[in-house]
Amino acid sequence: MKNYKEEFLRLIKSANKITVITGAGISAESGVPTFRGEDGLWKNYRAEELATPYAFQKNPQLVWEWYNWRRELISKCEPNPAHKFLVKLEKEKGDNFLLITQNVDGLHRKAGNKRIIEIHGCIWRVKCVNCAYKDYNYDIPIKILPKCPECDDVLRPDVVWFGESLDYNDLQKSIEACIKCDLLIVIGTSGVVQPVASFPFQAKSNNKNLKLIDINPVKNPISEIADLYIPYKSGEFLKDV
Ligand code: NAD
Ligand code: ZN
Repeated sequence: MKNYKEEFLRLIKSANKITVITGAGISAESGVPTFRGEDGLWKNYRAEELATPYAFQKNPQLVWEWYNWRRELISKCEPNPAHKFLVKLEKEKGDNFLLITQNVDGLHRKAGNKRIIEIHGCIWRVKCVNCAYKDYNYDIPIKILPKCPECDDVLRPDVVWFGESLDYNDLQKSIEACIKCDLLIVIGTSGVVQPVASFPFQAKSNNKNLKLIDINPVKNPISEIADLYIPYKSGEFLKDV
C-alpha cells in the first residue's frame, strides 16, 4: 500500500484542479449498503425493482417503506476516513475542487464538504409529483404516504431513479469539471451506472494531460483506463494519507 500512497500523493501534489467522482462504495465502510452487494437486498426486492418511476406509480406505499428503511439505516451512519479525506482536499484546493457524488446519503455534506454536486439527488429531500414543491425532510420514520403541503398530491423522494434523466445544469457542470481538471479521482463506483460511468472516458479522450485515479477493491471498466488503479477499500486506503 505504501507505494500506492506515494504515487497517489505525488499526483495530488502536481495537480492544480481536482475533480472527484464518488459512488456507493465510498459509503460502504460507513455501513450504507451498495445496491449490488448482497446486503443491498430489502425484503427480497432488488434496488433496481424499487428505485424506478414505474415502481412508484404501481405501489408508492411499498417504495416509501423501502426509503423509510434506508433513511433509518443511513441516519445511523457516520462519514468514514474517505469522506474526511475529501473535506481536507477541498480545504486545500478551494475553488479548484469539485465533488460529484452519485450517492444520495448526504454523508459528504455531513462530513463537511461544500463544493458538491449531488447528481442523483438526496434521500433527505422530498419533492411533489405534481407541483414544484421541494424541501428537506429528516423525519424518521417519515409519514407514509407524505402529502404536498401546497397541492395535496403525493411527495416522492428527491432522488434520480433508474430510467430518469439527470438535471441538465448538474450534468453540464459535472462533465465540464471532469474534462477541465488536471486530476480526476474516482472512488467506489462500479462504472456501469450511466451517464456518470462515461465521465472518466469523456475526460480522458478530451484532455490528454488529465490523470485518472480509481480507488475500488474490485476492478471495473474505469480501473482499466486509470493512470493509477488503487485496489483497496477507500476508507482503509485514505485513513492516513
Ligand atoms: P454500485 O453499488 O453499483 O457499486 C459500488 C462500487 O463500490 C462497486 O464497484 C464496489 O466494488 C465498490 N466498493 C464496495 N466497497 C468499497 C469500498 N469500501 N471502497 C471503495 N469501493 C468499494 O454503486 P454505484 O455504481 O454508485 O451505482 C448505484 C447507484 O445507486 C448510485 O449511483 C446511487 O445513486 C445509488 N446508491 C446510493 C447509495 C448511497 O447513497 N450511499 C447506496 C447505494 C446505491
Ligand atoms: Zn405539490
